[in-house]
Amino acid sequence: MVRPRVYRAEGIILRRRNLGEADSIFTVFSGTEGKFEAIAKGVRKARSRMRGHLEPLTRSRVLVAHGRSLDVFTQAETVDSYRRLREDLEASAEAIYCLELVDRFTEEREPLHELYALLVTALSLLEEGGGAAVTRHFELRLLALLGYEPYTEGCVICEGHLEEEATLLSPGAGGLVCRQCHTEAGRGRMISVDVIKLLRFAKRATAPEFMAVRTSLEVAQEMRVAIAELLRYYLDRDPNARRFVEGVRSLDQRGLD
Ligand SMILES: [Zn+2]
Repeated sequence: MVRPRVYRAEGIILRRRNLGEADSIFTVFSGTEGKFEAIAKGVRKARSRMRGHLEPLTRSRVLVAHGRSLDVFTQAETVDSYRRLREDLEASAEAIYCLELVDRFTEEREPLHELYALLVTALSLLEEGGGAAVTRHFELRLLALLGYEPYTEGCVICEGHLEEEATLLSPGAGGLVCRQCHTEAGRGRMISVDVIKLLRFAKRATAPEFMAVRTSLEVAQEMRVAIAELLRYYLDRDPNARRFVEGVRSLDQRGLD
């Protein structure tokens, strides 16, 4: 079969890097094509028709031509610029963090329709003021969709029943670990019953259902740290945007004094 010379895709622009005087290479995450890169020629010139339609954190429809080394954007049209999201520093920090997670966890040209739908939903909810709960749900569903969901229904090592008490969450073992199996589990973190319940609930809850759960600041913080450790284990690093999110949050808390 002859490969068509052009293809259409709808996706979220994850990042840009500039090339030469006027060109930029954009990384797009779409449901149909997965993650891909293409070059927008002359996009940094004032008269470029694509300018503004290819900014990071924009949902765009693009027409792309296969190139010899790099594919080339030939048309771009904004579907959603998330204008209100951009105006809210905390929400945009959460959104940029979600984009980085997608970027780090995906390979090029691997169609992931469900992950794309999840990202689009998360961005809309963040824009509506959903806050950090949207990100927690997004992190857990992303892990689940990529096959890294932590096992929480029993001990991940012996499959035994777990008491309702603080329990070890071991990223290396892939879930919760009973007291008898601690020595086999490797490193991990003790998490409270409240966090265990939230992890379990996130498996079947939609983002709005998950956001509706009221938790104390302590539990929310514990949940955030527990998931961060899972992500760090799989990525072998912390996402850069995490520091941005934390910086914005501490700025916000100082503002409340
Ligand atoms: Zn066990």
